Amino acid sequence: MAVKGKITINAELCKGCNLCVDVCPHKIIEISKDRFNQRGHHPALVTDIGKCTACALCAVICPDVAITVYKEA
Ligand code: SF4
Ligand code: SF4
Repeated sequence: MAVKGKITINAELCKGCNLCVDVCPHKIIEISKDRFNQRGHHPALVTDIGKCTACALCAVICPDVAITVYKEA
């Protein structure tokens, strides 16, 4: 059975660098086009959390430690 995952992205820590977007094997992260954080960056957001496998690549690559990954049993 495939592992199910969930992530949270702290929008205030995010600088919209796109690294997590590129690294996600399921392409379920994108940069918001219409939201800004307090520092004026477009933050990353998840588009289809049901496809997350908790691989944690997004969290590992994020230079600002903005992503937390949870693995569901
Ligand atoms: S944990 Fe893996 S599958 Fe889930 S959003 Fe991050 S990179 Fe994508
Ligand atoms: S890698 Fe981190 S800082 Fe860069 S867009 Fe993703 S969440 Fe934001």
